[in-house]
Amino acid sequence: MSIITEALGVLAPHKCDVCGGFADNDDNMGMIDRVYSEIYSCRRDFHICSECLSGLVPQTKDKRWFTCLSNPVEDDPYPDLALFMPFAYSGVVSSAVPMIKFGGRKGIARLFGILLGFVALNEGIQADLITPVPLSKARREERGFNQAFEIAYPLGRILERPVAEGVIRRKRNTGKQSEITDTTLRAVNVSGAFEFDGSWDIEGLRILLVDDVSTTGFTMKEAATVLMEAGAGDVLCCAFSGNRQIKNDEPF
Ligand SMILES: [Zn+2]
Repeated sequence: MSIITEALGVLAPHKCDVCGGFADNDDNMGMIDRVYSEIYSCRRDFHICSECLSGLVPQTKDKRWFTCLSNPVEDDPYPDLALFMPFAYSGVVSSAVPMIKFGGRKGIARLFGILLGFVALNEGIQADLITPVPLSKARREERGFNQAFEIAYPLGRILERPVAEGVIRRKRNTGKQSEITDTTLRAVNVSGAFEFDGSWDIEGLRILLVDDVSTTGFTMKEAATVLMEAGAGDVLCCAFSGNRQIKNDEPF
């Protein structure tokens, strides 16, 4: 770095990657920065202002747990799959998620994973294995990363549990769930979308299945069902955020 660019870096403050405002938190993210640099062996590669950071607050404990599908289908073999979803899809979360998906801001997904990790630890969530909901090969290549993995990885480091990609994979590109508004069509769209990679032995394991956002729960339900059918002892679905209102009475 030349002296000139270094000087410009000092003179021109960073913009917040979420709102575009003045990122005034760069030397003041305490625990998050420590965990980030420990996990990734580098400084975090995104910037956030205090206003956006202060909007990243988990919901109260009684609002974090849901059933995966609030209206299970008839003859559903796993009607009670639990979904842990501690952040509301509103405010700064709803602005940041498109930045991750369409703006390539992998660092924000990692921040979400760290936050989710602390909340999950605090909630006493345990698992033998953590795995992200996979993207299709085409979507992953287009985006360059799977945001669910970027969230799952720091979560696994904080819970001190292994994180594995590829336990299940997408058989086909299902298109974007977010572009389908009809609930029945969303279910049909992801039906049969996943398959288990038979080289894994997950017999009896308690698996934490991670995604960024869950809306109807169909995607997670479909992926969780494939894991259960492959012998998993239990699957807990875990989405960083969502806008569901119906929740479980009995925590998982
Ligand atoms: Zn901001």
